[in-house]
Amino acid sequence: MGFIDTHSHIYEPEFKDDCDDVIKRAKEAGVEKVFLPNVNLESIEPMLQLCCKNKGYLYPMIGLHPEDIKEGYNDALCKMYEMLASNKYEVIAVGEVGLDYYWTKEYYEEQKTVFEQQIGWAIEFGLPLMLHTRSAHQELVEIMSKYKGRGLSGVFHCFSGTSEEAQELLSFDNFMLGIGGVLTFKKSTLPDVLKEVPLERIVIETDAPYLAPVPMRGKRNEPAYARHTVERLANIYETSVEEIMSVTNDNVKRVFKCLN
Ligand SMILES: [Zn+2]
Repeated sequence: MGFIDTHSHIYEPEFKDDCDDVIKRAKEAGVEKVFLPNVNLESIEPMLQLCCKNKGYLYPMIGLHPEDIKEGYNDALCKMYEMLASNKYEVIAVGEVGLDYYWTKEYYEEQKTVFEQQIGWAIEFGLPLMLHTRSAHQELVEIMSKYKGRGLSGVFHCFSGTSEEAQELLSFDNFMLGIGGVLTFKKSTLPDVLKEVPLERIVIETDAPYLAPVPMRGKRNEPAYARHTVERLANIYETSVEEIMSVTNDNVKRVFKCLN
């Protein structure tokens, strides 16, 4: 039995020298599939090439990351929309998209508009959302609330918030919390927060090359390392590694219906 890394940027330049080895190690570690979110126009091509080369193992997502909303972003949006509409690339989700006010609020309103536009794509094409949010929890919840009952599904990627925030996000049916390396960090509050999160509402991710779990913390992250997150989850939920894999795989299937 294996598990799925639902969020990994292994098309990034960090992996250009040893990507084949990274994929090999992932398979050896029990990673059954890896989902790749793109971030901007430039990252689409390398992502699609890698997915094409590893069909049935790597799966692409398309969307404009909030941190990439800057001059000329409308052009990027048009091209992404065309790609989704063409139905040529076997895209499994719109992502990663969302709101990020951590570094700057310069594009405060634009981020919201573009996010809603991409929620519209998810509805139009019947795709789940891979959501990124940082320093924008309340704004994200406000926008998402407008779309309750519209059949959306998705993942709140890299969740690391409070119990209250977790409960607010779980009020969106058919959405999962993406749990990665942060869970294993010494000072992480996530183990406590997860006590009130049913296992039926989480999925595994790495966010490679970022946020490698302990004992790999600080190193370049890769899908194989998610094994450490799975083991920590088994410990927190007081169950077996197999059970964590089996339940989170079912969760993935509920959100990413096109894979069934
Ligand atoms: Zn990401």
